This record gives sequence, C-alpha cells and structure tokens, in this order.
Amino acid sequence: MENSIVKLDHEYIAQTYSRFPIALSYGKGSKVYSDTGKEYIDFGSGIAVNSFGIGDEVWKKAVIDQLDKIQHTSNLYYSEPCTKLAALLCEKTGLKKVFFQNSGAEANECAIKTARKYAHDRYGEKRKYIVCLKNSFHGRTVTTLSATGQDVFHKDFGPFTDGFIFIEPNDIKEVKDVFKRDDIAAVMLEIVQGEGGINVLNQEYVAEINHIAKQKDIVIIIDEVQTGNGRTGTLYAYMQYDIEPDIVTTAKGLGGGLPIGAAMFGEKTENVLSYGSHGSTFGGNPVCCAGAISIISRIDESFLKSVKEKSEYIFSRLNGAKGIKSVSGLGLMIGIETEKETKEVINKCIENGLLVLSAKNKIRLLPPLNIDYEDLQKGIDIIKGACEQ
Ligand SMILES: *Cc1c(COP(=O)(O)O)cnc(C)c1O
Repeated sequence: MENSIVKLDHEYIAQTYSRFPIALSYGKGSKVYSDTGKEYIDFGSGIAVNSFGIGDEVWKKAVIDQLDKIQHTSNLYYSEPCTKLAALLCEKTGLKKVFFQNSGAEANECAIKTARKYAHDRYGEKRKYIVCLKNSFHGRTVTTLSATGQDVFHKDFGPFTDGFIFIEPNDIKEVKDVFKRDDIAAVMLEIVQGEGGINVLNQEYVAEINHIAKQKDIVIIIDEVQTGNGRTGTLYAYMQYDIEPDIVTTAKGLGGGLPIGAAMFGEKTENVLSYGSHGSTFGGNPVCCAGAISIISRIDESFLKSVKEKSEYIFSRLNGAKGIKSVSGLGLMIGIETEKETKEVINKCIENGLLVLSAKNKIRLLPPLNIDYEDLQKGIDIIKGACEQ
C-alpha cells in the first residue's frame, strides 16, 4: 500500500477505526483489488452493503440514469424514485408506509420515535420503556447506543437516553416477566444479532414475544439493518418467523452500496408520524432510491432460493471441519467459531486473498448475495486452510 495513504489517514482522519493495512481501490463482482493490484475474494461486501457485489451492471445503470436526471431534490417536492421504492417495499412486505433516511442508526431512531409516540398517544407518557436484547447492536447515535445491549457502548458519552430495558435473548421466562410491567411501549430486536456475534433467535422465543406484544398492544420493532434485503434467504429475516412486526428498519444492503435507510410501518403505526413530526434532508435521495429499486426488484423467490442453496453449501463445507468449533447464522450471514484466535484466522485469510469480517469472537461472512460458486468454493478453501494450520 502507498505509505502516503496511511500517513494522511493518521494525520487527518479521526482515528476511530482499526483498519487492516490494505487500501481497496477497485473491483468487480465478488473480487476486489488493493491499490497495489493484489486480488481478494470479498466475503464482507463492505459489511453487508454491496448486496450484488462491486459494480453490478444493472445497479450501475439505474444509478447513472438517475444521476443524468437529477441528484437531489429535497423533500419539499414529490420525487418518483423514492415513491416507487416505497411502493415496492410495501408490496413485497405487506407493510403500509415507509420513511427514508440515510443509515441504520437513523432508521432505528425513527422507529424509536414512532413507537414512543404511538404509546404516548394511546396510553400517556407512563408507557415509555423499550425492551431490547442483551448483546444487541442498534447504532452509534446517543439514543441507538442507549438501545444497544452491550456495556462497552454505555460509557464516555453520557447522559444516555433513558427508557431502555435489556433482557437475555432466547430466555422465554425473561420475556414473560418483563411484559408483566404496564409501562412497556415497545420491544426491539434483531432476528440474527450481527455485531453481537451472529446469534440466531429461537422460533419459540420470537413467537412468544409476538404473542404477548399483540395481547398488550406493545409495538414490535425488528431491526433488519444487517439481516434485511435478502441477506438471510428471505427478503427480511422476520419472514422466517411467527411474528408480525409493527415497524421494520433496514439500511446496509438496501441501496446496493449507496447510503439509504428505511423505517417501514405496519397497520398499527402507519399514521403515527404526522406533518412536521420527523424529517431528513437527504432522506429518500433519488440516486440512492434508484439504486435500491434495482436491488429490491431483483430479490425474488428464485434469487432467494439461490441464497439459501449457497448458505447450505457453506454450512455443509464448514460444519465439522478441522479447527472449526461451530457455525451459526442464517442465509449468507454466517458466524464461525474457530479453535485458533479470530484475528489469526482473519490475517491468514487476508494473506491468502480472502477478505472476511469478525463479530465478537467469531469470523463473520457476509459475501455478496450473487457470488458465484467458483469464488465461494475458493473462499471456503482459504478459510478451512487458515483454521487447520
Ligand atoms: C450496522 C447496524 C446498525 C447501524 O447502521 P449504520 O448505518 O452504521 O448507522 C444498526 N443495527 C444493526 C443491526 C446493524 O447491523
């Protein structure tokens, strides 16, 4: 890598990231190249963002065609791409309305505001608590950090936003206990905890939350920022569970590489936000929405079937392999517990031309959804090799 990049980064960028010593420069599909021309197979997709890989032609054309028309309009005027994207999302999910933002954290902020307003409007200010799960991750704003169930995030930046309660994931008794209270406005969860270490929620646990929340008119928020947009083998991960969410948030993979977030509302919450109650300057940006339409419109049944098949292929090759303790996840969101230190395995993979991520103590795989079997096989061979040695 050019030394000047490291030097300028360290000199001029706030040093919040621990970066790998690689500068990514260009790519195509599931292959990405450093500035020195080293080739990598990409099992990270920029953290589940480049859903159809790098430079996907259909996506690129949609984005460029929109750029040729207008790059931004503001929300003072109607705009076709964001209207069409909202209609497409509602048609595919059965949800009723959408509010667009620019990131996952903002989508979750919107969900939290909406859930609180719903509860306040109906039950008064006493119903103010939102139940979240331990080990969750919901974003980096002060409020979404407050909703994040990991103690490491609850320091340095206080005072934090009040009103979040944390329960143990997959513990039905804790669900029953916490919902005995009469001051709960909402429950917020990831179907597969991403940053928390690729922990999949149990079917019975999710069904129980749904059952009690419906009985007590508690708003169900599903954070699909990472799990959404085909990543887990269904358009949204909740669709594999017995749950009917009132708000679904998403971001990462939605725009195929451009910044966009969305909060989607079901029947119960579709009219909670009213004139003036929320807004975003960039939200619904036409270029990002045009990119998102080209992604979402292609995630159909046959595409999702191919995601599931690739997932089965990865699980079957890694389960029981030498040096691998466990494999968890759903679809193409996969966590691997290895006998060796995570860091050592990741560095070995990088050395051998494969980019992988980590999540807590696991190796995390988030390959492009349309990755071909040749790259998939090569990548898995590299992982197995790195775990064995
Ligand atoms: C990444 C992530 C977020 C935060 O999204 P940003 O776009 O970084 O703000 C929120 N929730 C989950 C589950 C995530 O994976």
